[in-house]
Amino acid sequence: NNLALGRTLALFFPVMTLFTNLGLAVVIWLGGRLTILGTTTTGDFVAFISYLNLLAWPMMALGWVTNLIQRGSAAMRRINGILEEVPEITDRIAAPHKKKIRGQIGLSRLTYLYPNRKEHALQDITLTIRSGQTAALVGGVGSGKSTLLQAIPRLIETGRGMILIDGIPLHDIDLATLRGSIGFVTQEPYVFSDTIADNVTLGRRGAGRDTVNNALRIAQLRDEVESLPRGTQSIVGERGVTLSGGQRQRLTIARAIVANPPILILDDALSQVDTRTEAAILNGILRTREGRTTIIVSHRLTTIKRADIIYVLKEGLLVESGNHDMLLRTGGEYARLYQRQQLNEELLEVR
Ligand code: ADP
Ligand code: MG
Repeated sequence: NNLALGRTLALFFPVMTLFTNLGLAVVIWLGGRLTILGTTTTGDFVAFISYLNLLAWPMMALGWVTNLIQRGSAAMRRINGILEEVPEITDRIAAPHKKKIRGQIGLSRLTYLYPNRKEHALQDITLTIRSGQTAALVGGVGSGKSTLLQAIPRLIETGRGMILIDGIPLHDIDLATLRGSIGFVTQEPYVFSDTIADNVTLGRRGAGRDTVNNALRIAQLRDEVESLPRGTQSIVGERGVTLSGGQRQRLTIARAIVANPPILILDDALSQVDTRTEAAILNGILRTREGRTTIIVSHRLTTIKRADIIYVLKEGLLVESGNHDMLLRTGGEYARLYQRQQLNEELLEVR
């Protein structure tokens, strides 16, 4: 369609010019004869030609404007289609809770089944994360970690079971308040084609240069950003194409640090960052989050070790919980995962 439009537009001006000039030729031919024969005066003839010239441009502009209006209304239709879309997940009760959230999370027999699936992604999950705790979710790929985390800010609507935040049922909390209180760094970071500083603050007022630099420092991205010619004012390409996967992940971490919400969820947010940098970032984050709830998912158990409470998922079931030492002593799934990773690391060192 764009090629066809291009062809039409390429023809537009030449054809318009051709017709106005043909018109002029006809006027000069016929009018010239009338003037020679003395039917009209030379003055009238010249005036006629000037008027014709004055008319030509407005006529062309009319066509041009019609074209612009048509294109604009087609674009408007599409934009409205998105703006008028009614969200499936909305506030359900008339007067939802809008009070400040402290960050206690309780799941009670939470069950979730994806619409097109037979196996439950989550089954009967009951757990508690106290306000201010650092909790970790551990489990293999597809064990339900992301599904569980998405249920907390109501990105998915769970059917059976309950989620309580500060003891209040999730559906009784104002959706904007709920989501405004949760920082969620996902597996796939989203970066806007804007400056690094704006990507970090996301338009938050009052977030000055110091805030941005501090967040970048904790996210271990400061040096790399400073080595760019325009520093934090560098534009990152559409969807962050000018950044590496690890840089993109660290940029979204910096964003979460600036937001510093009562609840921070890091869902495998550092998978593309090397182990040592991941440990440094987590140390920094946990220091800034003293007294605030943080949930971490990571495949590297060395970074999970420090969590106050560790929950182990397996095929949608909660199989173990406790802190690192307790779980190692139990000698279950977690201990097995941990031993395997230790062995891997030793093998890498030998090499
Ligand atoms: P994890 O984050 O632990 O790797 P997920 O929560 O992403 O696991 O997935 C749990 C299960 O749900 C998996 O079996 C996965 O295939 C399935 N699943 C995840 N997302 C979807 C989806 N959008 N539609 C259908 N099934 C899904
Ligand atoms: Mg996941």
